[in-house]
Parts: sequence; structure tokens; C-alpha cells
Amino acid sequence: MKQRIYLDNAATTQLYPEVFKEMEPYFTEYFANPSGIYQFARESWNVVDKAREEIASVIGAKPEEIYFTGGGSESDNWALKMIAEAYAHKGKHIITSKIEHHAVLHTCAYLEKQGYEITYLPVNEEGRIDLKQLEEAIRKDTLCISIMAANNEIGTIMPIAEIGEIARRKGVLFHTDAVQAFGHIPLSVEDMQIDMLSASGHKINGPKGIGFLYIKKGIKVQSFLHGGAQERGKRAGTHNVPGIVGMAAAARLAQKEMEKRSAYESQLRDYAIGRIEKEIPFAVFSGSRENRLPNNIHFCFRFIEGESLLIMLDAKGICASSGSACTSGSLDPSHVLLAIGRPHEIAHGSLRLTLSEKTTKEEMDRVIDELKKIIERLRSMSPLYEDYKKEQEKSNV
Ligand SMILES: *Cc1c(COP(=O)(O)O)cnc(C)c1O
Repeated sequence: MKQRIYLDNAATTQLYPEVFKEMEPYFTEYFANPSGIYQFARESWNVVDKAREEIASVIGAKPEEIYFTGGGSESDNWALKMIAEAYAHKGKHIITSKIEHHAVLHTCAYLEKQGYEITYLPVNEEGRIDLKQLEEAIRKDTLCISIMAANNEIGTIMPIAEIGEIARRKGVLFHTDAVQAFGHIPLSVEDMQIDMLSASGHKINGPKGIGFLYIKKGIKVQSFLHGGAQERGKRAGTHNVPGIVGMAAAARLAQKEMEKRSAYESQLRDYAIGRIEKEIPFAVFSGSRENRLPNNIHFCFRFIEGESLLIMLDAKGICASSGSACTSGSLDPSHVLLAIGRPHEIAHGSLRLTLSEKTTKEEMDRVIDELKKIIERLRSMSPLYEDYKKEQEKSNV
């Protein structure tokens, strides 16, 4: 069995051993509920406090603006439902984009059923919204703009600071799903005028089941999970102390290493993109070359079924993704690829490779060598490709 090559870091990342090491004492040794009044609980309380400070400092927020949650999905749900409810007197209109994560899109669909009106902004072929269109979409009854910081499928980074500027000027709240961006690219809630920000532990080499929502001071915070008085009475549930410690450790590490990691990853990314474009015919590059997450490679291969590609890569020990969050077996192409204008038949042949700073050039070379062979084989079996070649021959005569 060849060694496994993991290229699905947008789906989840390895919990780094050094992060786990920091978490470990809080499973078995310091297990006290931070809400306890005895000395033993103090240790848990202090470590949660310290984690909150560390995380706040990474995005330039105040510690009391950080609310721990069960992950990115919960943070997205909370942000949107909270604003919808707390500011319902102002209106019932929310602006988002067509390429958000389902945690945002399905929450919006839920709110639509509750009588809210949602504008889904289109994106250009790179996956970026148009700022003028955004500004024109804002109405008197607009409560909130929710635009992701970076897309999880095609890796496109949105013009967050510009969106923040427009939102602030127009008096509309701005939430960003920064799950893919946090710890990967610099984020400052102050400079970017962000009012709410969602992030998750397991996308930055931290643990799963922990995330946070940044809520700017002054915003009416409504409880999402009702119960105990944790998180300033706004998010009930016994603190996930090891998770919180792990997320802070991962965030601290990510912040410290960000420049080095992103320089390394983006170089390897561009090397791989270059090889694929040069060596694999009919490879359609997705996303933006300029505004791109350092670790994202995304292509659609014409005359290929993405599912078959993934299965054959898996047989070679390569973990990759089609990039689309839809459950395998579903024939619906990704909403993101359709939104950037990719026809169904091309969108079906999608492949997302998301690397980490531990991915080596040798691994990338092996993956691309395998990819070449697999694509050749799949095309040799494809009736679509045969038809295409016949057409080409006819027109060449
Ligand atoms: C992974 C992801 C989420 C969901 O985060 P979880 O912590 O897995 O719930 C939300 N948004 C984006 C952009 C993501 O990539």
C-alpha cells in the first residue's frame, strides 16, 4: 500500500500533535466545570479566559466579543437568526451571495420560510461579488450582509474590507463566514469593519466541534442555545474546555506561522496549477489567480465524471474532493460552479485539491502523475470524448 496523500484540507485538517498536547490535561486532569466556585474550577475558568484573549487578539477583537460555539455551522446559524430576530423591527431583508457555504444558504432558506426576504448576489467567473451590485441591493429594510471571506470550493477571497466599508457607510450589519480564511489569511475586524465573524477549530489544525462567533460590542446579542449562563448568558452549555484550549493553540500557531505557511503553500499551489495546465488537456481552471487561498487548487476536467476521478485517486491513496458539499451519489453539480457560469457537463468533472504546509513537492508530483494517467484512462472510456474527437476530425478535414 502506497503512503496516503491527504489533499482535502478544506474539508478538515489534521489536529496537530502540539495542539493536542495542550488540550490533553483538560480531558483527564483538569476536568472541572469552569462554572464551579471551588479552586479546582478556577484552572478551567482561567484557561478559557486566556483562550478567549488569544483568539480575540488574532482578529483584533476584544475578548468579550468572542463567543465560543460548537463550530462554523453553529456560528453561521446563530449570526443570521440572531440578527433576523433582534432587528426584525427594522426590516426583513438580508443580502448574501450565491456561493456561500450551506450553513449560510440553508439558514437563509429557513429565514425565507419565516417571511424574510433574501437577495442572493451573483458572482463573476472568478467567484467575486460586484461591489456596485452590492451597494444597489441595499434597501431601507436591509438588516445584514453576509458574505464569506473565502470560498471553500474554489478558494476565492472576497473583497471583505470593501464590503465592510459599504456596510458601515450604509448602516447595515456585516457578517462574514471566515471559516476558510481564519488562520489562513490576515483578518482584522476593525480594519475590515466586520460586525460578526464565524470561524471553526478543525479547519486550522485544531479540534472538531469547536468554533466561535465574534460579535461586535453594541450589537444586540440574542441567545441561540438557551440554558445556563455560559458565554455571558448567550450560549448555554458546559464549556468545551479541551476544545477551547485546542482552538486557541491552533489559532496562535496559525497566526505565528501564517506568513511562512502561506508563502510555502501558494508556491506549491502555483507549481501544481502550472503543471496541470501544461500537461493535462481540457483542464478548466476555477477561481481567481490573484485573490486565492494559498492552499486551494480547483479544476474542472472536461469529459470526466468527477466521482470516478475521486474513486480512482482514492485507489492510489490520494484523498481529494470534488469540492462540492453535496452528498456523494447526488447528480446535482455544485451551486458554486453553476454560479461562476460553468455549464453542468463541465461542472461535473470538478476536482479540488487543498494542501497543507506539510504537503511536499514530491507528493504533488505523484498526485499529478497519477491524475494524468487516470484522466487519460477515463477519457478513453468516455463516449462524450469520442464524439468530441470525431467532431474535431470532421471540422479539420
Ligand atoms: C467547513 C465550513 C463551515 C462549517 O464549519 P463546521 O465547523 O464544520 O461546522 C462553514 N463555512 C465554511 C466556508 C466552511 O468551509
